[in-house]
Amino acid sequence: MDSWNESCQACETAGGPLTKFSLGKDFFGRPYDRLSPSSDQSPKWYCAPCSIHKNLQRDFRDIRIEFDKLRAGQGSELSKGDEFRRASLRLQEMIAILRGTKQPSPFLSGNDVTLLMERLNTLTMPV
Ligand SMILES: [Zn+2]
Repeated sequence: MDSWNESCQACETAGGPLTKFSLGKDFFGRPYDRLSPSSDQSPKWYCAPCSIHKNLQRDFRDIRIEFDKLRAGQGSELSKGDEFRRASLRLQEMIAILRGTKQPSPFLSGNDVTLLMERLNTLTMPV
């Protein structure tokens, strides 16, 4: 069994329980292969708050990529009404989580999320 007995690989907190974090599927349920940078392919060890933020970062990145495709008129997961709604709810959830944490996320800026949500809101929801 492999394990990591040191500190969180994001915030470097030591001594707490750590979770092995590996990006399996992306926000739209697709396996990670071509979209993710190679740095995300190997599992890392994060403390509980950092695991949550890592998840948020992953979803944020996936949604932003699909948003850019939609804006560019390319095929996008967000052209499906269900996915569009889900992405919009997820961004709202992210903003709530980011506002509710005392320390800033090591992975994600609240301003970026707010901006993406505002841009998403300017689009008409697909049917
Ligand atoms: Zn951490």
